[in-house]
Amino acid sequence: MNVQWRERILAAALSCAALMAWSGRSARAAEPLSAAAVRTSAGRQVCLVTADGPLGLPAAYATGFVLGNGQFVVTDLASVARPGVAQVTLRFEDGKTAVCREFGMADPATGLVAIHVAEPRPGEAGLALSTAATVGEGGTPAVVIGWKWGQQLDLAMGRLTNGVPGVELAERLKIAAPQGPSRFLVLLSTGLEIAPGAPLIDGAGGVVGVLAGILGSGETLVVPAELLRAALLSAGAQLKPLSQLPQPVWPAVVQDLAGKPATPQEFAAAVRAVKTRSRCKTCNGSGTVVVRKLVGQNRVGGLSRPIYREETQTCSACQGECVVCGDGLYAHFARMAEGAVRLLASPATPEKAREAAITNGRALLDALGKVGPRYRDELVAQAQADLSASGTDLPRGVVVYAQLRGDLKGPDGPYTRVAPHRAATDLAIRADRFRQALGEDEGANDAGPVEGDWIILAGLAEGTVNLDGRQTVHLRPFGWAWGPSLGPRPATAPPARRTGHPGAEGLKKGEPSFFGL
Ligand SMILES: [Zn+2]
Repeated sequence: MNVQWRERILAAALSCAALMAWSGRSARAAEPLSAAAVRTSAGRQVCLVTADGPLGLPAAYATGFVLGNGQFVVTDLASVARPGVAQVTLRFEDGKTAVCREFGMADPATGLVAIHVAEPRPGEAGLALSTAATVGEGGTPAVVIGWKWGQQLDLAMGRLTNGVPGVELAERLKIAAPQGPSRFLVLLSTGLEIAPGAPLIDGAGGVVGVLAGILGSGETLVVPAELLRAALLSAGAQLKPLSQLPQPVWPAVVQDLAGKPATPQEFAAAVRAVKTRSRCKTCNGSGTVVVRKLVGQNRVGGLSRPIYREETQTCSACQGECVVCGDGLYAHFARMAEGAVRLLASPATPEKAREAAITNGRALLDALGKVGPRYRDELVAQAQADLSASGTDLPRGVVVYAQLRGDLKGPDGPYTRVAPHRAATDLAIRADRFRQALGEDEGANDAGPVEGDWIILAGLAEGTVNLDGRQTVHLRPFGWAWGPSLGPRPATAPPARRTGHPGAEGLKKGEPSFFGL
């Protein structure tokens, strides 16, 4: 097609999408506003937007909705403008998918983007933008419809109220105010878990706003439809590759982990299970048992009576380690690690629960550094079996004794390669995430473990990837602790900066035992 014509048609499509408000209003004005009615009228036009990461794993999940004549899907800019993301996959509730690689509009001030749909679904008109200019006194009822946890369509009723000017929000967030007109509506709604980019539908069936995902605002913010319309109308007529997306001006909350977030209660239960199941039942976690020993006979009036003495012995069940790694215990470790990652990844997690997870997680990893060799060997064996079996069952929590094996080059930056003890599969962790992960406080001058060092590592295995010519499992770390040296240092590794890892000599006398049991 002639380039000039193509551009004209695209310009027409964008402005047509922006102006197609009236037909939507008149067609649906009669229906009362309810979640069920919105699901019926708008559900087919709302999709899950998955930003496909450069390694083939999802980089972020957002909600999108088809606009106007179906050539564009509006979604959250921050979720798509991720490092190395060159395409997104749209998934509709009927299971239909579409891969998109270009955008027609990207607006840093509203944080919205219009993704170009190369092959619009035939016979499917998109949603129309509402022309209701202002929010009524006391708020306007609206239904937000979108995808949550990267998995399912969800709806919530709420009330839109007149909100925050962009200048004021920028001041609150201590960032530079965006150019041009900027303001957000505030949605009053509780327990919202829908990903940003979701449309808010008003009583007339039009899109009255789009759910924003702004970090630290303290409120649920919504981009008013009129600002989206203005951004669409002022967009150039050229399609550009998604790799050229600008960043939004606002700090963003991005959903980058699929699946139900863990609750603090679930995490606490997993930690408790690990602790109580680890405790040796024979000696009740003391490492010793008291036995009655026959030491002689006593003859009284012609009768022989045995003489016993009580003696303290090392518990034979745990060999004095106080803990036993019984069958299936690793599954509880895996659940704990997954819960910890999910708890920290969810913006809904209260700060107190976050701190408790970090404290508990740190105690657990430190304890594994000091636990006896019997327990450790059994845990290593269970972890190895789980890692080799879980190739098709990811994401899954991981707790391993492992050695750092240097860096791998990734399409979105360097990765740290970690080799779990006795396992065939390597783990790869994005280097910046590994540095941010919970670890021993080493002070500003020490960057933590380097190639050749042994650690205990907990995290979430997300999928198998090919990195730097190597098949590895992509791991999202929760944290690490220094571990005992369980093998030789590679010849290429720098000399160890630490001598005598705390775990190497095991538990010292008088130290609190495993998990303080
Ligand atoms: Zn015991």
